[in-house]
Amino acid sequence: MENWLLKRAQLSSDQPALYFQDHTLTFKALANEVQEWAEKLNNLTLQPKSPIGLIGTNTKTTYCLILAIQQLGHPVALFNFRLSPAELLQQVQDAQPSILLVDDTLPQWQKLPGSLSYQALNQQQRQSYPPIAEFDNETIADIMYTSGSTGRPKGVLQTFGNHFYSAIGTGLNFKLSSDDAWICAVPLFHISGLSILMRSLIYGLTVYLEPKFDAQRINYLLQQAPTTIVSVVPYMLKQLLATLPESAHYQSKFKGLFLGGGPIDRKTLEICEARQIPVVQSYGMTETASNVVALNFKDAPQKIGASGQALFPVQLRISPQGEIQLKSPTLAKGYLHQTAAFEQKFTADHWFKTGDIGELDTQGFLYVKGRVDTMFISGGENIFPNEIEAIYSHYPGIQEIVVTHQKDPKWGAIPIALIIPEKGASLTAKALTDFGREQLTHYKVPKAFYQLTQLPKTGNGKLNYAALNTLELVKSQQLS
Ligand code: ATP
Ligand code: MG
Repeated sequence: MENWLLKRAQLSSDQPALYFQDHTLTFKALANEVQEWAEKLNNLTLQPKSPIGLIGTNTKTTYCLILAIQQLGHPVALFNFRLSPAELLQQVQDAQPSILLVDDTLPQWQKLPGSLSYQALNQQQRQSYPPIAEFDNETIADIMYTSGSTGRPKGVLQTFGNHFYSAIGTGLNFKLSSDDAWICAVPLFHISGLSILMRSLIYGLTVYLEPKFDAQRINYLLQQAPTTIVSVVPYMLKQLLATLPESAHYQSKFKGLFLGGGPIDRKTLEICEARQIPVVQSYGMTETASNVVALNFKDAPQKIGASGQALFPVQLRISPQGEIQLKSPTLAKGYLHQTAAFEQKFTADHWFKTGDIGELDTQGFLYVKGRVDTMFISGGENIFPNEIEAIYSHYPGIQEIVVTHQKDPKWGAIPIALIIPEKGASLTAKALTDFGREQLTHYKVPKAFYQLTQLPKTGNGKLNYAALNTLELVKSQQLS
């Protein structure tokens, strides 16, 4: 395939590519800025095709550097700046980048071996270079780490072909064109953010890049700026709703909120519907280079709770055990240094085992029920903690709830709930049990409720299931 950036700069030179902090860059200006960074990078001694590490916040420079690294023909290894020092160091050692570019606003990471601040890079002499001739389907574009919900994050090898087919699948689903303008307030080091950048080059659409998720600012943009889509994860959706005044409406070009990253409760989706805010749910993972299943704007209101249908290039089946399995050209090439772990994720007939459980309705809409790893069996019944959490997430006084299980001599395992109460809330086990019995089959009602002040989270803010299993629960935390 053609070099995407150069092709887009040629096709849409004067079209807006990037809007950042009230400035617009056309595709031509973007390509020029990327070239400048690439020339500075080219002044450094780099092993051909070796990964270049990047620890960046959502800024124009981070954006340009990702593209500049691609232009030089190196994979970019993207790291999450919110990780703990030990977690980040582990990933850097895994990826072994020849150099580590670090955002000027993140001095804590500038002491890492091999690091070079954006500012120091900016001071390099410019050294002309030949941009890579083509974006080959099989070439590794980037190394991206999974969230680490179920163990140590894995470095996923995403190719240009993965990103291309992912953009096409989403483009067909949303009828994307150069008229679209996509707000990116999700991190660029995560597939939710990087995939917006790739779609921008492929469709010529405009990216509204936001340094961080600020609900009021996003609501303002959705009301005032000609934006069409915004990517959100569940907590962002809830904050947008909480800060949008009852009388406010998004502007007429707005198509909908694109929701991904994890499960959402039904009630939140119903609130969106009542407020006439279109939301399309989706399902995907780092290994599939963004969503592989998604709703579209037409079906979403009739299919509340579904994650959607498999995108055009994607094949999906549910195994007899209920696992979601896939074949997709967006499926990554593998895990860095963990060939065997990746191979183990395939069935004998070459389907990718997602590790998630789901159901398809008669029209092929997917309902994700939870992860294989968090499902447990109580008295012979399968229990999905997600389902129970969703029911309780609207219980007054609960800020956050996680359901897990405890060994039980009679039932094998029983559900228990870990709760972070809202400030000043007084919760009782009896009231929580009564509520559960009204809403859930009896064996799904947690048999004990524990009150905590915090829950273990991954660097991406997701629940850390691996750490959850080692959590010490003591009698004093139990609600009576
Ligand atoms: P790790 O693989 O390191 O344990 P992770 O699986 O959380 O972490 P990601 O690739 O960021 O890393 O997340 C993908 C996972 O998120 C999916 O496998 C699934 O479990 C969950 N997920 C994504 N979309 C949905 C959805 N619509 N409903 C429920 N869960 C979802
Ligand atoms: Mg995973």
